[in-house]
Amino acid sequence: MTLSYVFPPPEIVAVPIVNSEQLFPIHRLFFVGRNYQAHAAEMGVSIDKASAKPFYFTKSSTALVQSGAHIPYALATQNLHYEMELVVAIGQAGVNLARAEAQSHIFGYACGLDMTRRDLQGEAKKKALPWDCGKDFADSAVISPIVKMPGQLLDQANIELSVNGQIKQRSNIAQMIWNVQELIADLSTYYPLKAGDLIYTGTPDGVGPVVSGDRITGAIEGIGTIALDIA
Ligand code: MN
Repeated sequence: MTLSYVFPPPEIVAVPIVNSEQLFPIHRLFFVGRNYQAHAAEMGVSIDKASAKPFYFTKSSTALVQSGAHIPYALATQNLHYEMELVVAIGQAGVNLARAEAQSHIFGYACGLDMTRRDLQGEAKKKALPWDCGKDFADSAVISPIVKMPGQLLDQANIELSVNGQIKQRSNIAQMIWNVQELIADLSTYYPLKAGDLIYTGTPDGVGPVVSGDRITGAIEGIGTIALDIA
């Protein structure tokens, strides 16, 4: 007897690839917490790389939304923030990777927005509770089409974000505390990485709120652009 599903199973979440007819099917979404000194500072912390380790949170693949979307203002928040980030797309499985091996697991890169319910995240931090409600919610992981760059390390590129045409974030990914190679290797010591994983690598300083009617636009040099409208 062949069993059928009691209701239709969820659709496969996938992201377009620039200049390709193929889609990149999504496995998991990982996010790096504080990876630019200037952003850590604006959140009230200083990172000493000698003693600190990167930390991670995750979002559900159902939180993913394509660049160009018009999304409703998020539920349950009065302080919805943008965070512009470089996204690494993983193309090959690996666990406990050495830094030198990490590079070969790169499929490509995209622009990403780590949308955040800052008020809920702040409350959670104060009470030492999990960040899930502040981070993992509908339409909170925005992604541009992926640029295929297999095995290529991106360690220098201007990154910026504007709201309604006004620059809010401007930095260079060379300012990341842990670079792409280090992040892939470190993350793979906690989770077996698989093809289809995305790693949002953290945001520069200048994060801030958006309101209904705002248009967010961002760019990473050599990778592309991203846009989001808050309905
Ligand atoms: Mn972030």
